[in-house]
Amino acid sequence: MQTIGLIGGMSWESTALYYKLINERVRDRMGKLHSAPLLIYSYDFEVIKQMQYAGRWSEAAASLAEVARRLEGAGARAIVLCTNTMHKLAPDIISSVTVPFIHLGDATAQRIRAKGYRRVGLLGTKFTMEEDFYIDRLRAHDLDVLVPPTEARADVNRIIYEELCLGIVADPSRRRYQDVMAALVAAGAECIILGCTEITMMVGPDDTTVETFDTTAIHAETAADFAMG
Ligand code: GLU
Repeated sequence: MQTIGLIGGMSWESTALYYKLINERVRDRMGKLHSAPLLIYSYDFEVIKQMQYAGRWSEAAASLAEVARRLEGAGARAIVLCTNTMHKLAPDIISSVTVPFIHLGDATAQRIRAKGYRRVGLLGTKFTMEEDFYIDRLRAHDLDVLVPPTEARADVNRIIYEELCLGIVADPSRRRYQDVMAALVAAGAECIILGCTEITMMVGPDDTTVETFDTTAIHAETAADFAMG
């Protein structure tokens, strides 16, 4: 099996899910006591969050590139960045290593296209929902992307940073997400991307009338499949 280098800690709550999901997939596919060879670099997320909110993206890019290089140096045969948001800096990581970068947006878009959907509703951080880096990546796969209106985006973002990244899963927040997803469906979304790696802790297929695409599970499965060759 090939060793995968995970860049995690953004937040550690979702990196823990990656760890479990990757190993479960390897166990289910390979049996016996097989588990995935993994290297994990886990960030102090408060430091990253401050860079994000202060717009210190070049500092964050330099740090992620350095970590990716260290993972490659330690034997990683592919890099997996365990957050949708920080895929804003994917080009900086890709140019700093010689091994493949398993892109979360591509893996998700391929799954959605394979199911025949075109019009997707996107939930994520404000960076993911409002900037081009993620939406353009989905559009490159011929997807039409709908995001919630301003006020709803602020709530979706706040719940990620103030609750989910701290492991807090609250019923009023789940109801808010359900309402936001219902509005996206009413606006024409054929499916919903849970485009933040913590969202799966709170909502899933039972919280909306359309199919959901859990980026954490999709990315973890893609990484496990790479490891198994
Ligand atoms: N894990 C989240 C994501 O997938 C949000 C935290 C972050 O800003 O990295 O976007």
